[in-house]
Amino acid sequence: MSLVGGLRDVVPTPPEHRVWISRAEALDTLRCTPEELAQLVAAGLVEEDGRHDYCDVWNVGLLSGTGRSSPERIMIFFARMLKSYGADWVSARAYEIVGWAQCPRAEHCPSSEWSAPVLPDVQWQHEEIQAGRAEWRGRVELTGNTATVRDPRVREVWDDLLRRYRFHFTPMTLSSDVAGTRHRGVGDCDSLCQVLMSELLDRGVAAEQESGYIFGGARLGLHSWVRLVDADGEVKILDPAMALLSDLFFTPEYKAFCCGSGSNRVLRRASREGMFAAHPCVTEDGRIFYEFTLRSIRPGRAPGPRCSEGAG
Ligand SMILES: [Zn+2]
Repeated sequence: MSLVGGLRDVVPTPPEHRVWISRAEALDTLRCTPEELAQLVAAGLVEEDGRHDYCDVWNVGLLSGTGRSSPERIMIFFARMLKSYGADWVSARAYEIVGWAQCPRAEHCPSSEWSAPVLPDVQWQHEEIQAGRAEWRGRVELTGNTATVRDPRVREVWDDLLRRYRFHFTPMTLSSDVAGTRHRGVGDCDSLCQVLMSELLDRGVAAEQESGYIFGGARLGLHSWVRLVDADGEVKILDPAMALLSDLFFTPEYKAFCCGSGSNRVLRRASREGMFAAHPCVTEDGRIFYEFTLRSIRPGRAPGPRCSEGAG
């Protein structure tokens, strides 16, 4: 595969949803030469005033098979982690968690008003507010469970979704457009969850979307999955994005795990909107994301060194 080969499999971001990045950022994301980027443009990668669409570039990298782009390196890192833990995607693990938020006005920020992130499984123990920055430290224990879906209606919807859709990085403004996702046949965790819930609802199965973070390295990445009560009365988790990414980067075992099991690599957030920090400097298009890192606390040992690789 190649970058141009990856581009052929990309469903481009609709013009009204484009988020522009600089040429330098595109080169850095794809880890490619200016000549290779020029080849991509000649092959149809959108370019306007020397800029490119963020998701188009990330999707080219994801599907390129070069192994060197940022999205692939994140997935390869995650795959290594899933393998290195073997089947242990479920045992209880304790972590030290650090969360922070930064005001775009940096040291000129006039306010010390910040709200701590609401994560139901985290107990915050320490808060530190400086000019333009807030940081919280706490502890969390994550655990999973292995299960499979019994309800044939759910299995049918799930199999159908995995046949008809592919994973794509998707603009936030587009992921809630269920009709648009159906039409495009591609989506991120959020869009795929919404399509899945809508299909389940059509067959009379109630399900809810849960939002949170996925732990693939030290840095937490935004993630969503679907939760429902199965025919056997047990709560089951469906993770369509990770299942679709399994075909490209992970194992068939992990793909099967995504249909019913709960992973010890995800952390719930109290609400979908809770990814953003409440702070007086926030504007309509200048919202502030919380960021998090986790580090493992092994029983009887002090926390290990912080890992520098992030989930993106
Ligand atoms: Zn501020």
